[in-house]
Amino acid sequence: MNVSEPLALDLKAIENQVTEYQFELNDAFFASLEGAMVQQGDVRARVQVRKLSSHFELHLAVEGYVQVACDRCLEPMRQPVENESRLSVKFGEAYEEVNDELVVIPQVPGRLDLTWYLYELTVLAIPIRHVHEEGACNADMTARLESLSAGRQATDDPRWEALKNLRNN
Ligand SMILES: [Zn+2]
Repeated sequence: MNVSEPLALDLKAIENQVTEYQFELNDAFFASLEGAMVQQGDVRARVQVRKLSSHFELHLAVEGYVQVACDRCLEPMRQPVENESRLSVKFGEAYEEVNDELVVIPQVPGRLDLTWYLYELTVLAIPIRHVHEEGACNADMTARLESLSAGRQATDDPRWEALKNLRNN
């Protein structure tokens, strides 16, 4: 899968009752998404498309890891991710996200871009609190953050930003 291609399924061209696709969501994929929280990762995505008389049923699954900042020490960490979801796709007049499980797309060109569906599926698999394994954190940074948070008044404390920048220096 070349990342310069959009992750688009040509549903109109599908002839088989069941078709399976695989995509690699790699560093280049995440970096290409503007405003994305996750910028690096290595995730395998599998998309199974079942063609029915009135619509398509998609089963989306992702598995791999993404790189995020550790909540405890702010250093990059590998967060394993695994998630799956279902999506029904119908042909209609205009594009419309009816709800989380149903999207209508125009019959022409009959293509569904999966980029954000697969990205969101991946990001939703990241636990709210994600930290390095015990003992794997940057000890110096953890100590600094702990002493800082003890005296911290608000989350928008400018010292917080300054400290976050420290790891790049
Ligand atoms: Zn850590």
